[in-house]
Amino acid sequence: MHYSIALSERQHKILCRHLIRTDGQEDLCFALYRPSVGKSRYSGIIKEVILPLPGERQVHRNVSFNSEYIDRVMDLALEKECGICFLHSHPTNGWQHMSTDDVIAETELAPRVKSFTKLPLLGMTVAQDEVWSGRFWIKTSPSKYERFWCESTRITGKGITIHYDDRQIMPPVLQEQFTRTISAWGPVKQQSIARMHIGIVGLGSVGSVLAEALLKTGIQKITLIDFDTVELKNLDRLQGIGKLSIGRLKVAVVKQRLLTQRLSKNIAINSVPHSIVEENGFRAALDCDLLFSCVDRPWPRFVLDALSQANCIPVIDGGIETSIKPNQSNIDQARWKAHTCGPERACMCCIGQYEVADVSLEQMGLLEDPTYIANLPKDHFIHRGENVFAFSVGVAGMELQQFLSLVLKPRRQFYGPKEFDFNSGMIDDNFEFTCKEGCDIEAMLAEGEKINHAFITQHPIAEQRRRAAIGLVWAFFKNLVNF
Ligand SMILES: [Zn+2]
Ligand SMILES: [Zn+2]
Repeated sequence: MHYSIALSERQHKILCRHLIRTDGQEDLCFALYRPSVGKSRYSGIIKEVILPLPGERQVHRNVSFNSEYIDRVMDLALEKECGICFLHSHPTNGWQHMSTDDVIAETELAPRVKSFTKLPLLGMTVAQDEVWSGRFWIKTSPSKYERFWCESTRITGKGITIHYDDRQIMPPVLQEQFTRTISAWGPVKQQSIARMHIGIVGLGSVGSVLAEALLKTGIQKITLIDFDTVELKNLDRLQGIGKLSIGRLKVAVVKQRLLTQRLSKNIAINSVPHSIVEENGFRAALDCDLLFSCVDRPWPRFVLDALSQANCIPVIDGGIETSIKPNQSNIDQARWKAHTCGPERACMCCIGQYEVADVSLEQMGLLEDPTYIANLPKDHFIHRGENVFAFSVGVAGMELQQFLSLVLKPRRQFYGPKEFDFNSGMIDDNFEFTCKEGCDIEAMLAEGEKINHAFITQHPIAEQRRRAAIGLVWAFFKNLVNF
């Protein structure tokens, strides 16, 4: 298992304001966290900072806290069903190791916290330059607690910043094939971008273009999530995929295409032939630092919306709307858009990317029922024109801009949703940056496992597609044997 930490920019600011002191002294505080359990990564999502009240901690040469403080934190953790995080600062810069005193303090705290909360103690250290390091104290035998360093700490909001433990996720060697990419934003940013684990949910026209673009941007770890297989009718929409791939799983075909380019020997592509609403798809997404939502249905969008808030994983989503003239003489109009969801950004529901009522229709299978669809109003999303490859490249481009803006934060500028009008060539950006008052999705911020299970279920169509793809592989081998 790998370990990681995530927190919103708001929590990061509160913590830094308290912990990083102008007098150069170290300071401490506690926070509550919720676990988030991915396929291969266990993360602590910082839920709430609990600052000390006057007299609850002493700032002298070695900062310490008294029993009133830890008792108050324990009570709050029990009441809110959270884990406990113990944080302190160091007066130096960069990723921080632990002093002997730090190890003693956290080793003493670990059994108390575990017996109270049933969750491991999370220790975190912040440096003067706001770089985080962290570790979980896991009970590995009846009286033994071992320290497991977190490979990364992710801060998400208007931008995304990730601090890595270089021993676990090493800075990549900047190879010649990326010279031109590096020349755009420099080696430091490239080392940060290249180490991100990025997931693409949905490998249709937008997803297949994004997979290619992320590889060329130097991303080394990509997870592809899609249960669907390649069909003849998809061939005018899938980047680099032809007739030979018909019947195969899209994730397998795209993975093969990315790997055969041999762009770098450190590239790891994880292909997951499941829906995001299935256990395997959802858990694989929780291993990622950022997700691209390339699905066009309300149910997976709703799940990704919730997942991004609950687990502090930014989700970049896009969409295309086209319509043809009634007499089919020309395109009538087309618009496409891209936006980033997650902590401190508007969710997909608030900006109208899906209707909650449609999520239920899809869950009941009614959006696959031709009779039911025929009776839906003319302006229902199901009747909208199909996206075409030429427009999908435009959407993928806008989504990549959202991604690069998030990670590069050029001149500290940020932007929210953007929509391109094909007919006029104008880009609109007068959309809300944050959620509407009382939004249910926003209320899921940092809830992690408390709510994750509620979004995981079975998906009969996904099961059927996987069976068909496996059947095709069997038929292929049977033919070989008979031959
Ligand atoms: Zn220390
Ligand atoms: Zn919202």
